[in-house]
Amino acid sequence: MRALFFHKKPKYSRDYPTPKRAEGEALIRVLQAGICNTDIEIVKGYMPFQGVLGHEFVGVVEEGDKTWIGKRVVGEINCPCRRCEYCRQGLGNHCPNRKVLGILGKDGAFADYLTLPMANLHELPTSVSNLQAVFVEPIASAFRILEQVDTGPNDKVAVLGDGKLGLLVAQVMAGTGCELTAIGRHPEKLEILARKKIKTRLVHEGPHQKFDLCIDCTGSPKGLELALDLVRPMGKIVLKSTFASPVPHWFGAGGERLNLSQLVVNEVVLLGSRCGPFKRAIEALQDGAVEVTALVTKVYNLEEAIKAFGLASRKGVLKVVLDMT
Ligand SMILES: [Zn+2]
Ligand SMILES: [Zn+2]
Repeated sequence: MRALFFHKKPKYSRDYPTPKRAEGEALIRVLQAGICNTDIEIVKGYMPFQGVLGHEFVGVVEEGDKTWIGKRVVGEINCPCRRCEYCRQGLGNHCPNRKVLGILGKDGAFADYLTLPMANLHELPTSVSNLQAVFVEPIASAFRILEQVDTGPNDKVAVLGDGKLGLLVAQVMAGTGCELTAIGRHPEKLEILARKKIKTRLVHEGPHQKFDLCIDCTGSPKGLELALDLVRPMGKIVLKSTFASPVPHWFGAGGERLNLSQLVVNEVVLLGSRCGPFKRAIEALQDGAVEVTALVTKVYNLEEAIKAFGLASRKGVLKVVLDMT
């Protein structure tokens, strides 16, 4: 099959071995897949992964239980062992033996076929298009924040970063009715949110307001520094960014090491946040709560995967999608 895989660098192959499904798994023909910052960070060395990249996809089940065959699906990316202590408590996303599609020990979605446990699959309603469905995984990860932090109409919330994830997180947070400000560096991207009546501002602009909750979607170590500056004492910071730079290399704007004592002095809660509920993400697309079409920069044929990857890695580019059909 055709595949974009990573081995020291991203490579394209026309005869990559088609995956064989294990017990309980489905074989899925991929229709479209989105390139995510995580894919770009893997290429920079964020995870020691080798194999087919990609974890944001929509596809059709070709092999598996009868009830699944022919269904158009998206799939949760964590494949837990279902036996360990974490799995027994329903915390499969944190299973220490897990494989993660296109990220850890399992070939991903930038190919004609992938396999996933049928337990991970969600059937798509016809009202959600393929292109929209590619966003289910990152929207689910935005909804994860609402499982972790109680947010209501009286909370002042800042979403930092106007990249792919920031634009999705801001839309999801807007649904809580909180007092939301989306903060970024690109007026043309913030405009996508302003059209949805979300308050926006540029990083170095506006009142130096303090927020109850700051959500870092900048994809950069600088985001934490900004969040520390914007969060009120005893407020919360949620980190959504994963990147290849290890902590000792984090520097503040003045070139000095990041000063984490602000966390201690202000008793700020720092929270990591990763994968979330697919069901809510599909519903948000269905009822129009989250709008994604403005986030698509370009759709490439799988054959042009290397070119697509190059574009996706460029600063300022939003979602680049691979089409396998
Ligand atoms: Zn992703
Ligand atoms: Zn487990």
